[in-house]
Amino acid sequence: MNPTKKLRVVVAGGGTAGWMTAAALAGTLGDCIELTLVESDAIGTIGVGESTIPPIVLFNRLLGIGEAEFMAATQATFKLGIKFENWKDVGETYFHSFGTTGKDHWSAGFQHFWLHGLSQGIEHSYDDYCLELKAALEGKFAHLPDDKMNYAYQLDSGLYAAFLRKRAEGDGAVRIEGKIAEVELDGESGNIAALRLDCDRRIAGDLFIDCTGFRALLIEGALHAGFDDWTHYLPCDSAIAVQTASVRPPVPYTRAIAHDAGWQWRIPLQHRQGNGIVYCSRYLDKDAALERLLGTVEGQVLTQPNFIRYTTGARRKQWHRNCVAIGLSGGFMEPLESTSIHLIQRAVLRLIRMLPGGPVSERDIAEFNDQQLTDMDQIRDFLILHYKVTERRDSPFWRHCAALPMPDSLAQKIELFRETGRVFRKNEELFVENSWVQVMMGQGIMPESYHPIATKLRADELDKFLAMLRDSVAKTVAGLPDHQTYIARYCAAQ
Ligand code: FAD
Repeated sequence: MNPTKKLRVVVAGGGTAGWMTAAALAGTLGDCIELTLVESDAIGTIGVGESTIPPIVLFNRLLGIGEAEFMAATQATFKLGIKFENWKDVGETYFHSFGTTGKDHWSAGFQHFWLHGLSQGIEHSYDDYCLELKAALEGKFAHLPDDKMNYAYQLDSGLYAAFLRKRAEGDGAVRIEGKIAEVELDGESGNIAALRLDCDRRIAGDLFIDCTGFRALLIEGALHAGFDDWTHYLPCDSAIAVQTASVRPPVPYTRAIAHDAGWQWRIPLQHRQGNGIVYCSRYLDKDAALERLLGTVEGQVLTQPNFIRYTTGARRKQWHRNCVAIGLSGGFMEPLESTSIHLIQRAVLRLIRMLPGGPVSERDIAEFNDQQLTDMDQIRDFLILHYKVTERRDSPFWRHCAALPMPDSLAQKIELFRETGRVFRKNEELFVENSWVQVMMGQGIMPESYHPIATKLRADELDKFLAMLRDSVAKTVAGLPDHQTYIARYCAAQ
């Protein structure tokens, strides 16, 4: 490799994926690469993607982003989890929090002790042992020492992209406005040689990042990487989003409210609320979906409805030749557990670890694809769980969901939990054991047995242990400030 020759990286697209990629690459490797980002204001971005999960806190930290500045710039609120309404059955609610519930023993998760407690007549809800969950439902938040409060953000994705753009440009990224009219391939290698814009400009590069969203202009349009369609697992294929004025202080959680052909989201930000309906077009048509959305939102509607069609699934090769797909170009599953922005983050950080020092290595490509696709498979399984394991049979959609096929990996996880109360996190899986426990129990699976270690505690010891955990949660929550007051104070102090 010629050390004086910088790697020319071209990012195609400037949505959340494009600017997260550009900001991370420029911020970490700005001196060794030449970074160009092409985007088209005329085409615009998808305009949704406001709810995140805790690793984004780390992403911002890695980029040296000050949290209060970020929150003020993106009108963000804190998020402690997701409240699922009408999923197990109509009228039933559960909460998937980002926290730890109770205290695990090395040999057995807390759920085993809680289950033993139940059998002994200690009938407190599993929820009473989780700080983040109780704080969320009381509308409270504060940073606690030792990162004891695990959180993410609800943010305005347009503002986040603009915020990252400023940073990326500050770190040397060059933005070019224009429409990509053609992807030019090198006749010999089959790699992408350049992007040709409609203004006749040609942008050559060594490594191309496809952040063109669902269009996937480079990875699919030019390189035909292939797509695995997961509609048979995740049947929703349509969404409509609108923004509304806030009618009450923002809560520190996202709401996912199931309806008879999908679900609706409510994401409270500082300055407004994001709302949307996700549905399966086989069971609900567009007009009925819009009517349902507009009939249920609270507050003045601020935007025109944004209609989105998608196919759930994953690009078979996330990195193919000299092109890496990041964002929606790499695939899309479901907004249900707010995992898409996280997959962008994972891909960018992975790419930084594997950035070619010379020609692209096939081994890097294979490793990247394996890791990224494993993440996607695991997230897919977690999402299917919400649709498949439900007692709802009240509509053709939910009856269809109950009959969905299940990947073996998910069947193993569910049946193991059902029989033994055990759940294991494999291969750096995103969702930890407690996430699985909360959602499996929330959707209606109650383990038939539990680990015998839980029975080693005498009845009075168990009672004391569980009471101590509940008291600690309750006391901490009682001392927390109100979420909105905390944000106002925190952002003002930056
Ligand atoms: P886009 O935003 O579509 O950006 C594509 C970019 O490519 C744009 O800049 C566009 O101008 C450019 N482009 C395209 N074609 C050309 C061309 N020919 N020439 C030049 N430029 C071009 N994720 C979450 O993490 N949390 C959520 O709560 C969440 N909710 C969602 C809800 C729905 C209904 C959907 C569909 C997705 C949701 N997502 C969510 C996913 C999230 O929106 C995306 O992961 C994120 O916005 C990244 O999108 P993107 O940048 O890949 O694509």
